[in-house]
Amino acid sequence: MSDVMLPKDRASQLLVLCYHRVADTGGGAFNGFLPNVSADPREFERQMSLVARAYTPIGIERLVEWLDGGGELPERPALVTFDDGYLDNGEVALPIMRRHGIRPLIFLATDYIGNGRAFPWDVVAYCLATTRKTGGKLPLLGQATFADEASRVRLASEWMAACKEEPADERSEWLRQLAEATDVPVSSTDLPWKACMDWDLVRRLAARDVDFGGHTCSHPILSRMPPGEAAREIADCFDRLAVELGRPPLAFAYPNGSARDFRPDDERAVARAGFKIGFSLEPGPVGLASVRERPHAVPRIYIGRRDSGFRFWLKIKGAAVAMGRARQALRRGLSIAGRAGAR
Ligand SMILES: [Zn+2]
Repeated sequence: MSDVMLPKDRASQLLVLCYHRVADTGGGAFNGFLPNVSADPREFERQMSLVARAYTPIGIERLVEWLDGGGELPERPALVTFDDGYLDNGEVALPIMRRHGIRPLIFLATDYIGNGRAFPWDVVAYCLATTRKTGGKLPLLGQATFADEASRVRLASEWMAACKEEPADERSEWLRQLAEATDVPVSSTDLPWKACMDWDLVRRLAARDVDFGGHTCSHPILSRMPPGEAAREIADCFDRLAVELGRPPLAFAYPNGSARDFRPDDERAVARAGFKIGFSLEPGPVGLASVRERPHAVPRIYIGRRDSGFRFWLKIKGAAVAMGRARQALRRGLSIAGRAGAR
């Protein structure tokens, strides 16, 4: 372990990484919404190698046993998770993880498993990647130029960010309008690009060495819907996984996952549904005492495709936590200065 500088004081912390997809994005063929690609296979191999050497990879069962009072965790425990349920988690990431003895935990949005449905962001990316138009008026964004690949990728992100602010039940209508505006007649149900696992594959992987958790049914942002509806999304997801897997799932991850995307009501609904643990996307790593204190909102470290090399190392060392604290301190300082100035 002399080739990397390793964190020395992390024995009482839990590292949870959050990936979405591991895929090669070169080659020109359409390959989904680019921001969801967390790493290419070579970079992912490097990251898993570092995790295996510097931490002790654990599975979700071990973590839940510990939460239930069943013994100690190993030093520097680390858990590697994936959101959404993409096929490449099994095809590309899993063989790499097996080589490094790391057991993945994959969070499924159950409405998208086994029926060929595509996530809205992949539909948006497809419309913008394949349109013959070079510009025009887009719903939610207005007039836009999309003559080159870079602007198409950027617009797909901007469009999704705008769409996420709209009520969840209006999402399919906004998508229909985007397909019309780009003149690409596709919808979630007929995208010519298969993204997600089906239940047969899920069961095969679960029987071997992959754990599955819940990520709601339809992937809404829970805080943008009435608490009762959010609770139904969570409970129905738990029930579906229990039926399909033949055993109750242990873990849940909030869609989008930042502090503004779920409420205390939603945390309680996750516990009530039967999930033993819940994961957010507030930045980790996190102290084990905090995991015990708030087991249904455990922070994770989001890994994106720009987090390669040194950036990855900084992130797992807790750079995002430190930056968040610095921002909070700065905001506090500014508001104190503001109040003093107003007097
Ligand atoms: Zn998700």
